[in-house]
Amino acid sequence: MTVRSASNKDDTDENARTSYFNLPALDVSIAFPQATPASVFPPCTSDYYIFDDLLTHEEKSVRMKVRECMEKDVAPIMAEYWEKAEFPFQIIPNLGALRVTGGTIKGYGCPGLSLTANAIATAEIARVDASCSTFVLVHSSLAMLTIGQISNHRLCGSEAQREKYLPSLAQLKTVACWALTEPGYGSDASSLATTATKVEGGWVLEGQKRWIGNSTFADVLIIFARNTTTNQINGFIVNKNAPGLTATKIENKIGLRMVQNGDILLKKVFVPDEDRLPGVNSFQDTSKVLAVSRVMVAWQPIGISMGVYDMCHRYLKERKQFGAPLAAFQITQEKLVRMLGNVQAMLLMGWRLCKLYETGKMTPGQASLAKAWITLKARETVSLGRELLGGNGILSDFLVAKAFCDLEPIYTFEGTYDINSLVTGREITGFASFKPSASSHRSRL
Ligand SMILES: Cc1cc2nc3c(=O)[nH]c(=O)nc-3n(C[C@H](O)[C@H](O)[C@H](O)COP(=O)(O)OP(=O)(O)OC[C@H]3O[C@@H](n4cnc5c(N)ncnc54)[C@H](O)[C@@H]3O)c2cc1C
Repeated sequence: MTVRSASNKDDTDENARTSYFNLPALDVSIAFPQATPASVFPPCTSDYYIFDDLLTHEEKSVRMKVRECMEKDVAPIMAEYWEKAEFPFQIIPNLGALRVTGGTIKGYGCPGLSLTANAIATAEIARVDASCSTFVLVHSSLAMLTIGQISNHRLCGSEAQREKYLPSLAQLKTVACWALTEPGYGSDASSLATTATKVEGGWVLEGQKRWIGNSTFADVLIIFARNTTTNQINGFIVNKNAPGLTATKIENKIGLRMVQNGDILLKKVFVPDEDRLPGVNSFQDTSKVLAVSRVMVAWQPIGISMGVYDMCHRYLKERKQFGAPLAAFQITQEKLVRMLGNVQAMLLMGWRLCKLYETGKMTPGQASLAKAWITLKARETVSLGRELLGGNGILSDFLVAKAFCDLEPIYTFEGTYDINSLVTGREITGFASFKPSASSHRSRL
């Protein structure tokens, strides 16, 4: 590069600008013809131990239906929307038509799937795009499940609430969000500070929520607040037009960029008595929902890892260096095999967790172990994938960079890796270690 004097630099820059500045970027298929981008999604090669053999006919058909929709409708547009950090609202009807939202809930227009089918649908959505799977998860496995029921076990809503809200949520004609986290209380969510005060005919909510997925456009908001009389956590269904309610988008995220996470402000928001969730009378009731949704969250990293493996498998065969496909080198094969091994172990752990749930044996510690361990292994898997694609491993067009970033919030939400480890730790040892032991000023150590 020639460094020019300050006097003629401006003239030269002006000429240079007229020749090529502001031209649109080359289409990736022209810029890099040797490998296919993720807009044409790779075939599924990650199911090495033929997981399909463990599935029922219904579960297999859910798997294929969701895979086809995601590859056809979402893969071609996902990099664009991820980069814009916008949600592709036009795909909501396609996702609704899959009949997977409301997952395990029976009746009220919901599909009544097995937990395993619901989990597989989550993975197949995440295999192509983790933002879409988070959109569905928050709507279905958190908000709808809180109102609805699972395996005939009613969760937190009343019969009237189930009839009023679930049918349109099941078809994705309306969208829901689920607001527990606050600026001051993340991992320590049970200490939340938003208040609910009883007034004539209803309740007044006052406080602030943070990170709430779908909240900027949700029609229905499930909000948790502390009852000022009992000091216990209660739950409320808040409609989006409630006076005093605002939700604004959190900008500059590096992962799940399509998901619209919001800061919610509640300023004297009135909620009528009929919209208080009768089944939420303490934080333990919230935990019942989290125990199920944690199973679903554990399937997101499984799907993400499958997609990354599938992408790498195709890319390494297409891309040549030193006169041979990258797939022919020993070191790249070892990385690919390590990724494949991780995916098989994750699938089997996720599947066993579903079976434990379906037979009524699953404990909260088992769900937490799966969420923690699977996200840990997925982190290793996507970072190997990122390496394998070289420079293209940092482009959203080739999936792995996007998946690499998307996994980070999943490692953190629904209980961080550490918090889930502590939930399992408490179950297996009998000692809760969430809070530091009392400060020991008198200790001689
Ligand atoms: C993209 C995204 C979407 C989300 N969507 C929702 C949503 O829809 N609804 C909702 O309610 N919330 C949502 N959340 C919030 C999420 O659940 C919290 O971010 C999560 O619980 C962690 O809380 P925090 O971010 O405040 O981290 P902190 O609690 O501040 O934790 C920071 C670090 O300290 C560690 N730590 C904390 N306490 C302990 C302890 N006792 N022992 C050891 N380590 C500890 C954590 O493991 C972590 O590494 C979302 C978050 C993100 C990033």
